[in-house]
This record gives sequence, C-alpha cells and structure tokens, in this order.
Amino acid sequence: MKNINAGILFALVIGCCVFRPVLSAELPPGFVYLRDVAPEIQVNLRYYSKDNFLGVRVNGYEKPVCIVTDPAAHALSKVQEELATFGLGLLVYDAYRPQSAVDHFWRWAQDLADKKMKADYYPQVEKTKLFEQGYIAARSGHSRGSSVDVTIVSLSENSTPLDMGTRWDFFDPSSWSNATNVTAAQRAHRMLLQKLMTKHGFEPLKEEWWHFKLKDEPFPGRYFDLPVEWLTFASSKEARHEGGLLITPNQSHFLPDSRTSLRNSDEQNEEHWHSGLKESPHPARSSHPE
Ligand SMILES: [Zn+2]
Repeated sequence: MKNINAGILFALVIGCCVFRPVLSAELPPGFVYLRDVAPEIQVNLRYYSKDNFLGVRVNGYEKPVCIVTDPAAHALSKVQEELATFGLGLLVYDAYRPQSAVDHFWRWAQDLADKKMKADYYPQVEKTKLFEQGYIAARSGHSRGSSVDVTIVSLSENSTPLDMGTRWDFFDPSSWSNATNVTAAQRAHRMLLQKLMTKHGFEPLKEEWWHFKLKDEPFPGRYFDLPVEWLTFASSKEARHEGGLLITPNQSHFLPDSRTSLRNSDEQNEEHWHSGLKESPHPARSSHPE
C-alpha cells in the first residue's frame, strides 16, 4: 500500500512537471529565435544594451536574444552562407522590436533635456526635430518581426564590422545608402550588404544602410508587443510540442520564471501579442529609426 501511494505521488509530481501548460514561453506561430535557424549569425542587440541613441536599455528588451519571423530567419541564413565564402558574416543589431520599445522611443523624444547620446547618434539634428524629420516614429516595421538592422563583419579580423561610413542608427543624411560623402570602400561595403540582402528577399531602406525588410513579410500591417525574452531552459530547440504543450527533453527540467505564470493561456498570449495593433495617431514618412 505504501508503495502504491508513493507511486501515485511520484506520478502526480512528474505529471505536474510534464503537463504544466507553458504556452506563454513559446513564440507565436511564425516566429523563431534566430540562433535556432542560423546559429552562426552574430547578434549584438543594441537596444538591450546602453549603446544606442537613448543611452539606456530599452523597454521590452529583457534578454539579448534575436527574434524574427521564420522566413526572415531563413533568408538571413542564406545571406550568411554567401558571406561565409568570403570570410565574412552577418551581425544583427536589431530584429523583432516590441511596440513597448517604440513607445519608449516616443517618451524619450519628449524629454528634450536628455541629450546624453547626441554626440554619438544625432550630432547634426536637434532633438526637437527628430519626429519632424522622421528619425523617430510612433510605430516601427520591426514590430512586425520581418525587419532587421544588420551589418557585415570580417571573421578573420575578430568579427570586426566592415567600415560602413557611419555607425548603426546614426541620424544623419550620411547614413543614406547612396550618400556620397563616404569613401569608395565604405560605399562598396554598403552595396555588398544591399546586394546580398536583396538577392535573398529583403528590401533596403534608402535612409538607413543597415535596415532591411523582408519583401514578402508574413504579418503585414500587424504590430506585435511581446517582450524580447528567453525561455528558462537552454534552447527552444531542445523542447518539443505535444498537444499544445511545450515539453523539455527529459520532461522535468522546465522551471517557469515568475512572469510566464502570468501569461499562461492562449487567450492572454493572443491579447498580449496583438495589443499593438491599434492605428497610430502619429503618421510618419517611415518607421525610422527602422
Ligand atoms: Zn531598422
């Protein structure tokens, strides 16, 4: 009898571990972690760091992980393959961007006293003009998951980025892809990036040499708002889906973080991911900085 009770208890404990719904830890259908598709592509998620035009980590970037739509990830993988034949590779600065991050940009732009990154990111533009000139907008194509900010790195030189003439997210006409106030080599580097990205299905943005949008993006017109975070286990690749549940390899290693338990239903997930769908009251020429 004792053994039977112990057996039942064991089964209950294991059952709780195995069958606890963890849907909130999954990415929505159509989205992937870039490292699961193309682990060789380097990522430096700059809005997760303080090295960006705000000078602080941006809201919604809770982990330094790159999330993109599945077709965008596979297209990037093809670009990476081609670059690798030259001893080069891709470096991603930003990909999926939650609407909450874009909202953070908006709030930052209202604080005219905060100019701590002006010298590095917008030396020639008054902060009051950032919206007017389209450098900041209320929405970004990045929130649709198929836009990326990328550059090329030299694998033989410790993954040093090629000289593109300006830094990423530099609010200045010299960042335009066809700017003429850059050297021939810098222009050539921009053209190489653009050539390979367009070959594999991306469209460039003329104002930003680093920004590309997948031409056939799977979620046109939709703006998602799930924070950029990482599952609590090592890799989403190690998990499998079963009857709507996400299960880790040994079926007992999953330990949800505190926030996953707050969003553990399909309904909550759906609501969270679509909370940014309402129309923006702030029309803009583009979603710059894309
Ligand atoms: Zn961009």
